[in-house]
Amino acid sequence: MESGMRRKNAVITGASQGIGKAIALYFARRGFDITLNYIGDSPDEVISEIEAEGAKCLPHMADVSSFSQAQELINASKSRFSAIDVLVNNAGITKDGLIMRMTEEQFDSVINVNLKGAFNVTRAVSSVMLKQRFGSIVNIASVVGVCGNAGQANYSASKGGLIALTKTCAKEFGGRGVTCNAVAPGFIDTPMTGGLPEGVKSKMLDSVALKKFGKTEDVAEAVYFLASAGYISGQVLNVCGGMLM
Ligand code: NAP
Repeated sequence: MESGMRRKNAVITGASQGIGKAIALYFARRGFDITLNYIGDSPDEVISEIEAEGAKCLPHMADVSSFSQAQELINASKSRFSAIDVLVNNAGITKDGLIMRMTEEQFDSVINVNLKGAFNVTRAVSSVMLKQRFGSIVNIASVVGVCGNAGQANYSASKGGLIALTKTCAKEFGGRGVTCNAVAPGFIDTPMTGGLPEGVKSKMLDSVALKKFGKTEDVAEAVYFLASAGYISGQVLNVCGGMLM
């Protein structure tokens, strides 16, 4: 990342709750201004928490699966902060089901948000970062994008695709000083996983070497590390307590 007197800033998609919120707060505590993307209700409490850290916060509602709304998100961030240091593609959804019963809508909607959404925002930020000749992109993938998961054909395919997108970006953007990496969380305690039945949770815990679920801050710490590392690109960092090795 570039240093100097200018305050750095990060665009974080899907930052109204869960992992995205933790990433936004982690960066704000370390001197970053935040462009906070969300799709539902305005996350007023999160905005206040970010501002309480002394950071500026630009909330921006956008559906990342929309090519034009992703472009508007980046346009808004660029015009407010003049440069963009970090993009974290975090927005994601699940619509689980076995392949035999999975509907076209279930498959398409998860691919559209998790994979096409990351492409849309990356495509929009690429002209900014390549022109300024610095920037870091961190994509929030998942361990199931590497190893697959029964009942998550759509989700695991979207995350596997996101890992391939990460490596391609690293190759296309590297010559202009822009890095692109992925974090692959295992089981992290968030609203996304909160609704899973206890039986499913305890079965998953059996496969975690550290025998506990991760916290959102564990993922934020890894994202910050990759966004700050100048000579790491095209890599996938598993944050999964030893679930996948
Ligand atoms: P979460 O609590 O459900 O939060 C998801 C966020 O994405 C919300 O802020 C939501 O916004 C936003 N979002 C959903 N659709 C969107 C869209 N079309 N455009 C913009 N924003 C959208 O999920 P989480 O557990 O924090 O997960 C965050 C990321 O980590 C996801 O990519 C997920 O796949 C990944 N991940 C999570 C785990 C885990 O164990 N939790 C494991 C591996 C990977 P609103 O609140 O405004 O609807």
